[in-house]
Amino acid sequence: MLAAVWHARRDVRVEEVPDAPPPRQGEIRAVVEWCGICGTDIEEWRSGPVWVPTSDKPHPLTKRHAPLILGHEVAARVADVGPGVSGLSEGNLVAIDGLIGCGECFWCSRHQVNLCPKMANIGLHFDGGLAEKVTVPASTAVLVPPGVAGDTAALAEPVSVAVRALRRGRLVLGESVAILGGGMIGLATAAVARAAGASQVIVIDPLEERRRLALGAGAGEVLDQRVDVAGAVAELTNGRGADLSVDAAGTAASGPQAISVARSAGRAVIVGLAHKPSTTSFFDIVTGEKEVIGSLSHIADEDFSEAVRLLSRGVLTADTIQAVKVPLEGAVDRGFEALTQPEPPAKVLVGKGAT
Ligand SMILES: [Zn+2]
Ligand SMILES: [Zn+2]
Repeated sequence: MLAAVWHARRDVRVEEVPDAPPPRQGEIRAVVEWCGICGTDIEEWRSGPVWVPTSDKPHPLTKRHAPLILGHEVAARVADVGPGVSGLSEGNLVAIDGLIGCGECFWCSRHQVNLCPKMANIGLHFDGGLAEKVTVPASTAVLVPPGVAGDTAALAEPVSVAVRALRRGRLVLGESVAILGGGMIGLATAAVARAAGASQVIVIDPLEERRRLALGAGAGEVLDQRVDVAGAVAELTNGRGADLSVDAAGTAASGPQAISVARSAGRAVIVGLAHKPSTTSFFDIVTGEKEVIGSLSHIADEDFSEAVRLLSRGVLTADTIQAVKVPLEGAVDRGFEALTQPEPPAKVLVGKGAT
């Protein structure tokens, strides 16, 4: 089958590889309909290995190392069901959470699999969905209700990241939410915050196109990141600042900005993965009694299933965010390249339905 394989930095090849293996006990094999390319994939391509294990240090749980098939935003149709799998059958559309833990450690025993020291993610620590087929544990596949298109189902992973971020931030009905970054996670956070009953959703991004998409995704107000962000958010929130802020951009500036736009006694959730250190004012955190909360990835039953449910209710679609579609053959040449342009699309989806 054809797949986009990470070999080394700047070396992701779309090439012929052995077919995804037949499912063993508790696994399914599925034909990929759509797989999103994530900022994480771009990081692996441009400056990796960040997460992908190399041959000198195979992954402790999966024992796998590069070359590995990328892709962790997967919507696929079940083709084969392994022994011991219930609730899924051939032809079902599934979205794949793709996160597995060791099942034995302190965090796994507390249902915090995303914090497991041996945590493995599809498309980074074992073969992912930028391929024709994928074989995964059935426990990580969430059934997509009828009526949800495959391209929208492929947004379940980033939407589940937004669900977790807002869960971690303890969003309460009627609160104001300010979101730094109008990329995929920021747009998903806006849509989920609106669906969860936020009274006000403000998205802050330097790109005009992103701000336009944010208004379609659920933001009531948008701001240019280059203005005095804290002042502008305060102005929109009776001079107070946002009840909850979310850094969905993960830049050196956006984390501190998320803290600065949260009101006194408010919460700032950091979900964007900043690879460079930031400078922030602890004075502001102490004197404002602000909470700064990290949020990582998602957990299958609490976040991912909820994301699928929200997508099935039309909270966000691939059309809303104007996802760009490319065929698997063009995953690198067209997909990865598009996402490194100065004004990248919010999402590139790779799949057979693209031309
Ligand atoms: Zn991702
Ligand atoms: Zn564990």
